Amino acid sequence: MNPEPVKSSLNISPAIRVGVLGFGGLGQAAAKVLAGKREMILVAVADQKGFAYAAEGLNVQECIATYQSQGSVGYLEPVGTLTNNSIQDLIDTTQPVDGYFLALPNLPNDFIPSVAKQFIAAGWQGVLVDAIKRTSAVEQLLAMKEELEAAGITYMTGCGATPGLLTAAAALAAQSYAEIHKVEITFGVGIANWEAYRATVREDIGHMPGYSVEAARAMSDAEVEALLDKTNGVLTLENMEHADDIMLEVAGIVGRDRVTVGGVVDTRNPKKPLSTNVKVTGRTFEGKISTHTFTLGDETSMAANVCGPAFGYLKAGRQLQQRSIYGIFTAAEIMPQFVK
Ligand code: NAD
Repeated sequence: MNPEPVKSSLNISPAIRVGVLGFGGLGQAAAKVLAGKREMILVAVADQKGFAYAAEGLNVQECIATYQSQGSVGYLEPVGTLTNNSIQDLIDTTQPVDGYFLALPNLPNDFIPSVAKQFIAAGWQGVLVDAIKRTSAVEQLLAMKEELEAAGITYMTGCGATPGLLTAAAALAAQSYAEIHKVEITFGVGIANWEAYRATVREDIGHMPGYSVEAARAMSDAEVEALLDKTNGVLTLENMEHADDIMLEVAGIVGRDRVTVGGVVDTRNPKKPLSTNVKVTGRTFEGKISTHTFTLGDETSMAANVCGPAFGYLKAGRQLQQRSIYGIFTAAEIMPQFVK
C-alpha cells in the first residue's frame, strides 16, 4: 500500500506527489513554486549525480542549499542517494510518485524521449510533463503515443512557456477566427548569468546559424562564454525549430508553416530585452482580418512562465490519468488546471 501523502486534510483529495527531474535553473525554480502549493508536494528530486526522496515531502531550501554547495541533492542526509544513474535508480526505488516534471536538458535531442522509455520499461504509471522545445523532439514523443497508452502513462508535452503557455494562448485566440493565417511568437528572456540556465542557453545556441544541437552540446563552458562575450551576452534567434508549430498543427488549428518563433535572450541582465508575446492573425466569419496579441507581463520571469504552466498541466494530466486516459497530449490540446 502506498502511504498517504501529507498536506492533505479532511474532505479534500490528497496532495499530488510530485518529482522533479533535473535540478538546475528550472528544476530549482519548480521546487520553489511547489513550496507555495498545498495541492502538490515535492517528494522526489534527481540531478546528474544523485536523487533525494521523502514520502512526507522534501525541504525545498535544504535541497537547493545542498545542490548549490555540493553539486547534488544526493548529498542530502538522510534522504539522498549518490548515483550516476539517478533517474533509473529513483524509478527502481518504486516509491510512490504521481507525476514528474522533466526539467532536464534535452541534449542530445532524444534524451527526454529516452527518459520516457525508461519509465515505460519500468512499468511505472503516472503523469509525465516536459517543457521540451524542439519540433523534432516532440515528434519523437508523439510517435510513442501507443507505447505510452499501453503503459498507462499520461504524458503532457511542450508544457513550458514556449512551447506551452504561449501555444495554449494561440489555441484560445484562434477561436475568434474562421481561418488562421499566422501565429507569431516572440520571446524576450533576461537572466542575470548564463550559468543559472546552462541547458537553456546551450539549446538556444543550437538554434543559431552555423550551430546545431550537437555542436552546442559539445561546447565547453569556456566556449559558451567566449561566444557570449562576442555578442555582449545577447542571443538573437529567428525562425527557430520550435514545437509550437507541430503542436498547433496536431491540434488542428493551423499548418506548421504558418507558425514562427523567435526571440532575444539577454544572459547578463534579468530585465527582459523585449516583451514576450504571441500574435494570432486570422479571418473572422464576417471576412474581417484581425490580430489578437497576448503579451506576458515584463516582471514575469522565464522560470515563472515555465514552471507555473508545467504544474498546471501536471494537474490536468492527473485528472486524465484518474479517468484512465493515457497517451500523449500537448499544451495546445488541454487546458492547464490552476494549482492551489
Ligand atoms: P540546467 O542546465 O540549469 O539544469 C539541468 C539539470 O539537469 C541539472 O541539475 C543536471 O544535473 C540535471 N541533469 C543533466 N543530465 C541529467 C541526467 N542524465 N539525469 C538526471 N539529471 C540530469 O537546465 P535548465 O536551463 O534549467 O533547462 C532545463 C530544460 O528546460 C532545458 O531542456 C530547456 O530547453 C527547457 N526550457 C524550456 C522552456 C520552455 O518554455 N518550454 C524554457 C526554458 C527552458
